[in-house]
Amino acid sequence: MKKVGVLALQGGFVEHIAALRRLGAEAFPVRLPAELEGLGGLVIPGGESITIGKLMKEYHLVDELNRLIADGLPVFGTCAGMILLAERVFGLDQQPLGAMHVQVRRNAFGRQVDSFESDLEVPVLGQSPFHAVFIRAPWIVRVGKSVEILATLPDGHPVAAREESLVATAFHPELTTDLRFHDYFLTIVDGELEANPHGRLRTNE
Ligand code: GLN
Repeated sequence: MKKVGVLALQGGFVEHIAALRRLGAEAFPVRLPAELEGLGGLVIPGGESITIGKLMKEYHLVDELNRLIADGLPVFGTCAGMILLAERVFGLDQQPLGAMHVQVRRNAFGRQVDSFESDLEVPVLGQSPFHAVFIRAPWIVRVGKSVEILATLPDGHPVAAREESLVATAFHPELTTDLRFHDYFLTIVDGELEANPHGRLRTNE
């Protein structure tokens, strides 16, 4: 089993580590560039994207992380983590990592519905719906051709996506007991799931 780091600068990293460990993964917090070495995958948790982004700069993580992502490091970004992976963010005066060809709107659901829960169809996870917890969440405005949309809200906004070894959700899978999104990410970390050139998934058997 490969090692999976969880960026532990701010936000919900403890819950992600627990979810990954429950699945049998070797998961641990990452704060320093040297701790990125030898990872099979990285989770960027939810929290506050401005804070996490600033701390990533202060801890000199940005260049190393971008280099590793360009080399194919699987990364799973949830909520603020999705914002940081995006190539463009509406409502953020800060440069995101720009690793994933998605454009997102920060705090997209407005104040009155800051937080809500929704049962989503997520075909790559199987038939039963995924209970998704949204907390001051972003939504996806636009995706590039190589991005597969994994889940969409009833109003049509995409809220989960995958591009090659990058996975992003606008919601918090670490806050429920349903571990299917983490399991899906670990399958990518283990190299058992590949995207074909048309963006459809196939298993690598
Ligand atoms: N609203 C937060 C931000 O913009 C994200 C919220 C979350 O991660 N739950 O960073």
